[in-house]
Amino acid sequence: MINIIGGGPIGCQTASLLAKKNEVTLYEQKSKIGSPIQCTGILSQTINEIIKLKKDFIANKVYSTRIFAPNKKFIQIHFKKPNIIVWRNKFDQYFEEKALDNGVDIIYNSTYFEKNKIKNLKTKRTKTINPNILIGADGPLSKVRKIHSFSKEKHLQGVQALIKIKNDNVVDFYPHIGTYAWAVPESNNLLRVGVAAKKDTGLIFRDFVKRYKGKVVEWQSGIIPIHNPQFKTQKKNVFLIGDAAAQIKNTTGGGLIPGLLAAKALTKSINNKENYDSLWRKEVGKSLWTHYQIRKMMNKFTNKDWDDLINTFNKESLKEVLGSGSRDKPIEMIFKTLIKEPKLMLFAKKLF
Ligand SMILES: Cc1cc2nc3c(=O)[nH]c(=O)nc-3n(C[C@H](O)[C@H](O)[C@H](O)COP(=O)(O)OP(=O)(O)OC[C@H]3O[C@@H](n4cnc5c(N)ncnc54)[C@H](O)[C@@H]3O)c2cc1C
Repeated sequence: MINIIGGGPIGCQTASLLAKKNEVTLYEQKSKIGSPIQCTGILSQTINEIIKLKKDFIANKVYSTRIFAPNKKFIQIHFKKPNIIVWRNKFDQYFEEKALDNGVDIIYNSTYFEKNKIKNLKTKRTKTINPNILIGADGPLSKVRKIHSFSKEKHLQGVQALIKIKNDNVVDFYPHIGTYAWAVPESNNLLRVGVAAKKDTGLIFRDFVKRYKGKVVEWQSGIIPIHNPQFKTQKKNVFLIGDAAAQIKNTTGGGLIPGLLAAKALTKSINNKENYDSLWRKEVGKSLWTHYQIRKMMNKFTNKDWDDLINTFNKESLKEVLGSGSRDKPIEMIFKTLIKEPKLMLFAKKLF
């Protein structure tokens, strides 16, 4: 018997893959999967390699992005294949339905609160579970991680507003504001505008949002884990996955694609008794390591470094490389840009 804690997209996807060969019960503390929404829902073209996209959860497709420097100059990159913007509630419910179709027993209103103990939040009754395998897919504040004494994670705080404003369907990205900031079009008159930062996120957001004058129709906030390549994700029969394992890109806060890829690795590991840590690192670890190193370098950037970097990228040949690659495959992109512009190596000295 496999028990999964957490019915987010990564828990449900892991459950549905494992249920093809195993008996799986998933415990979710909420009564309804998919809300409240705490996500921008932007996915690179790599999502097409993982699932078949459904019209039901696609809010929008975007074909270009502007990346801004502190001096207000920007480069505009046109994607060869569009990025997909999803409705997170419907996206999560798609994975929930897949899990149910594959025979997963989902038990709602049930929280994992002590070692091998589940509490029903409605009846307040507790029960003991005794699974052969326990999987923590319970998000950035994972109880499984804490209760089973995995190492502590660091986090960013994300704040986002849904703003009614006419726009040109281009993603704006500010890698120098907070840890990063964004404006992502949900439609031609709605933007998802947000900031992620280690501290003072609210203050940074209040200043940043002045650039997008419009009516705020909804506020959202959430925790974004910081990936650390040293982080252990398995202890005997207890596994962590998704945000609980900080499987996330440190440059953008994108955790959906890495988590979904890790779900495939965890399923293979359990079904074939192979090492989970090496399998998920083979699938997605190199990409997350690269984003970790890039962010580490960027954390040392001055405003002048940012201005110089954006200025260096302002060449058609480099913009074409960025537009034809996927941020979920950064190593390939880095090699191609370095071949076209070896001067970019100069920024790497910030790593040391
Ligand atoms: C502001 C913001 C913007 C973001 N934008 C993007 C983006 O554009 N693209 C992208 O790819 N990623 C984005 N992310 C990250 C993305 O939301 C996460 O990586 C993703 O949700 C991880 O999925 P998960 O299933 O691991 O965790 P979650 O989605 O957090 O799901 C965890 C589930 O576990 C349940 N749970 C928690 N504790 C318990 C417990 N003790 N017992 C039972 N159940 C429990 C929760 O209720 C929840 O349903 C963003 C995050 C934030 C905060």
